[in-house]
Amino acid sequence: MNPTDFPGDAPMFENIVRPSVPALDARLGTPEFVLDHGFVRLIDYMGDEGAIVQAARVSYGKGTKGVNSDRGLLRYLMRHWHTTPFEMCEIKLHVKLPIFVARQWIRHRTANVNEYSARYSILRAEFHLPEPGDLAPQSRTNRQGRDGSYGEDEATVIRHKMTTSYERAAATYFDLIDEDGDDLARETAREVLPLSTYTEWYWKVDLHNLLHFLRLRADPHAQKEIRAYAAVLCKLVEAWLPTVWESFVDYRLEAHTFSRQEMDALRTYMREVREFAADMGGPTLCLDGVTDRERVAFHEALGEY
Ligand SMILES: Cc1cc2nc3c(=O)[nH]c(=O)nc-3n(C[C@H](O)[C@H](O)[C@H](O)COP(=O)(O)OP(=O)(O)OC[C@H]3O[C@@H](n4cnc5c(N)ncnc54)[C@H](O)[C@@H]3O)c2cc1C
Repeated sequence: MNPTDFPGDAPMFENIVRPSVPALDARLGTPEFVLDHGFVRLIDYMGDEGAIVQAARVSYGKGTKGVNSDRGLLRYLMRHWHTTPFEMCEIKLHVKLPIFVARQWIRHRTANVNEYSARYSILRAEFHLPEPGDLAPQSRTNRQGRDGSYGEDEATVIRHKMTTSYERAAATYFDLIDEDGDDLARETAREVLPLSTYTEWYWKVDLHNLLHFLRLRADPHAQKEIRAYAAVLCKLVEAWLPTVWESFVDYRLEAHTFSRQEMDALRTYMREVREFAADMGGPTLCLDGVTDRERVAFHEALGEY
């Protein structure tokens, strides 16, 4: 039997032009300042929305014919968690950030990182000092957060205490590494520096994992200081891939997943409201700005069909 006798999609050999996004090209190398000494600087990127669409069409072949526009396809991929096409785009950033933010950031393992070496190099005496408005007492309801605010005088005293502590740590560090003094190895001397010390790294990540990072770190539950960095990355993604950004906001950032118990409660409530509305001629549930298929899926989820 000749292999050509079997039906199947022929491979696609489309012309390749290296994708570029002018909105990102304009940002290359320019630091976007964050907190008091930090920044995010775009070093490089790979791919555009076409690269995601291209990869999806390769993997689904003629199966994508039902999703006719690129926008529709991107939204479909996001909505249905078809994640691998999003891995076709990558971004490389130079980030300067306090060590306590870096410790949260580095937990996102699916990225490539090269950090400034404080064994090899001398750290700058740059420490994150919160703005007065960012100082707040320990929350009594959320042990991972702050709550309320300080008066101007209290905030000034706290900032002064923090600054004094930083200055003392910096003085000890530079004293310890002084070649004419202790000449202590940099890798050991750094132990006296606080978590607020700024570090730098190159961070390269694919879009799928970047969006995962943003879903967790642009969220109000994340610490304010890492959210400040996430906000800059959100703006970058929006400029780079506007349709992906829009669907990410719709299906992830501003979406919510309900548990089975919550869904049961919602379905019961909706049934009662529906029966009441039917009797009284009241309003029906309207869902705007979505496709017909999404509308059907929504009503099905609420047990309406
Ligand atoms: C608000 C908030 C509070 C947090 N508090 C704490 C805390 O108190 N203490 C603490 O230790 N951490 C804390 N974290 C960190 C959190 O537990 C995760 O480690 C971090 O968010 C990284 O998430 P991730 O593992 O999904 O990301 P990544 O490491 O980027 O991984 C992405 C995905 O890849 C897969 N993956 C990666 N590596 C593995 C692996 N080895 N095995 C299996 N699957 C893998 C998983 O599906 C994972 O979701 C907190 C995070 C947030 C957002």
